[in-house]
Amino acid sequence: MIDPFGRSISYLRVSVTDRCDFRCQYCMSEDMSFLPKQDVLSLEELERLCAAFIRKGVKKLRLTGGEPLVRRGIMSLVKALGHHLKTGDLHELTLTTNGSQLARYAEQLVENGIKRINVSLDTLNGEKFAQITRWGKLDKVMIGIRAAKAAGLNIKINTVALRDFNESELDRMVEWCGEEGMDMTIIETMPMGDIGGERADQYLPLSTVRENLEKNWQLKDSPFRSGGPARYVEVLETGRKLGFITPMTHNFCESCNRVRLTCTGTLYMCLGQDDATDLRLPLRASEGDEILERAIDEAIGRKPKGHDFVIDRGQSSPAVSRHMSVTGG
Ligand code: SAM
Ligand code: SF4
Repeated sequence: MIDPFGRSISYLRVSVTDRCDFRCQYCMSEDMSFLPKQDVLSLEELERLCAAFIRKGVKKLRLTGGEPLVRRGIMSLVKALGHHLKTGDLHELTLTTNGSQLARYAEQLVENGIKRINVSLDTLNGEKFAQITRWGKLDKVMIGIRAAKAAGLNIKINTVALRDFNESELDRMVEWCGEEGMDMTIIETMPMGDIGGERADQYLPLSTVRENLEKNWQLKDSPFRSGGPARYVEVLETGRKLGFITPMTHNFCESCNRVRLTCTGTLYMCLGQDDATDLRLPLRASEGDEILERAIDEAIGRKPKGHDFVIDRGQSSPAVSRHMSVTGG
């Protein structure tokens, strides 16, 4: 799949549910309304869609959400996708999770060919964790991370940089990731979905974060690219990679290799744009995949050049109206 700007699309992110057992303040409002269950694709339908993308050249697939591990029966999808790893058609299957269910699922993830996962964690302080996630318990996530390590999974910690929240803790988190043998990526908040608060209050540019970290750590620019928006440094003292995702201060679109599928079968060609294609109708239109594959081609042919994120104080509406939990980051 080649888009109009010559970018080869080989990475599919699939949000398997918009539901979650947390209500992170930057991601959701407290009283979120979720999609009616009948609008959500069955796991078999999601599997069929993923298989179509794999036939069309997707080599890397990430399950996300909402919280992917709260979807009932999720391991049947993981298992089905794991088969594509065995045939070599898919090179990598991975997952972004809040970690709350890892103790239960870590071993099954490994059994089905998953080698690396991203765990989102914004603070190491239990009280602050409860505050930012509203519903989460840090202990449970820590037990999950331990279980994942014990099962042999490589873990990358994703941390959203939040002004006056974890600004002063990022140093300790870099240290902790070093001690635990985990890479880390720090993410700027993006203006997605109504969260019932002012985004500009949370926004912390990563240029400031990096300057502060450099007071204590030697950060060496690294040529490493994951094919995504992160720019990496090596933390010389720990030997671990540290990524910065800066959608607000830096444009990363020229190397974009990905598209995003929601749990209702809507394909978003760009995280920062509203344009989307419905694949549920073509999926259900026939038992064969011809109509579906045509719809996928048509969608890739419309992938935009880039996003238009801006966070302005006083701006009343987010840049895109859907929440991050719709597409899963
Ligand atoms: N529930 C899983 C988790 O938290 O890892 C997967 C879905 S979550 C939407 C994916 C990632 O998006 C998380 O790392 C989360 O911190 C991040 N995220 C959510 N809302 C965001 C926002 N407005 N700006 C930047 N990152 C956001
Ligand atoms: Fe749930 Fe992840 Fe959003 Fe937090 S960031 S509310 S864990 S989907």
